[in-house]
Amino acid sequence: MLPIVGLTVGFISTLIGLTTSAMYDGHSMLRVTPQTKRQEDHLRDLGKHQGVSFIGGDPLVGDHSHVIASPQVLDFVLESLKKFETEHLLTNPDVGRSIRSQKFRTRMNGDISWDAYYDLDSINQYLTVQSVGHPDLVTLTTIGKSFEGRDLLLFKINKGSTTKPIIWIDSNIHAREWISSAVGLYLIDQLLNSPDIEIQAYLDDFNFHVLPMANPDGFVFSHLTDRFWRKTRSNTSATAINGCRGVDPNRNFDAYWLENDGGSKDPCDLYFAGDAVFTEFECIAIAQYLDSIRANLIAYISLHSWGQNVLIPTGRDSTQIPEYNE
Ligand SMILES: [Zn+2]
Repeated sequence: MLPIVGLTVGFISTLIGLTTSAMYDGHSMLRVTPQTKRQEDHLRDLGKHQGVSFIGGDPLVGDHSHVIASPQVLDFVLESLKKFETEHLLTNPDVGRSIRSQKFRTRMNGDISWDAYYDLDSINQYLTVQSVGHPDLVTLTTIGKSFEGRDLLLFKINKGSTTKPIIWIDSNIHAREWISSAVGLYLIDQLLNSPDIEIQAYLDDFNFHVLPMANPDGFVFSHLTDRFWRKTRSNTSATAINGCRGVDPNRNFDAYWLENDGGSKDPCDLYFAGDAVFTEFECIAIAQYLDSIRANLIAYISLHSWGQNVLIPTGRDSTQIPEYNE
């Protein structure tokens, strides 16, 4: 069975558009830890209130989760947590200020560093420069377009034979998870430029197909408008009615769709799984490409952020796959 791995990594030290930071000026971040199902259910209800949003994942009994509350609702949220005796900790009194302190650069010569975030044009320029610099190894191609018409750029590293086992890596399918594409680019950099012979040897054994920016529309929106935007930017059944846009692309594949609380049916929800499977251009492009390489595909690695977890199949429940011990 194909190993499918989701990696989550922590945010690195973090000047981006004033619009996106001003949106969160004075907003607080709280860490909440439900210990009972009643507390978990209460937190899920709380997350539906205007001005309250969960970051990173839904509340689960025994797990920390993180919630952002606007100044208008903070007292209400705190009172409510006390009422349900839910363990909580104020971890950030001004999220907008933290966003402004993120280190952000644009660099159009392809020469990026690993201590700052870059915009989409800088990332694409980096990929172009690296592909031009390694013509024998790299093919830079597109596997399709996003809803807003941006290219989905695939960076293929093939040393010698194109029939070797393929490792697929994608990142930033969730728009706000900027660190994930930074890690994707770093992996590319290491595979191409590391002096470490152990890393170089990977290229003898495997071909790497990397999609560093799986959700470019959402990524651009998270840079220019809302730092915590997670979804795509597509129109949904609700867009004309209430303006809610976008789908959680990681919930839109035709794989156990909406099973086991694996997404939301609410188009305004962060985890909206779509009006149907495969409504998102990005998901269709990824699935069609994976299908085209399935004979050689041996691993699927999807990079995310926030949770600091390694998630292995099946993901939808705790069933272990036959190769679990490997
Ligand atoms: Zn994610």
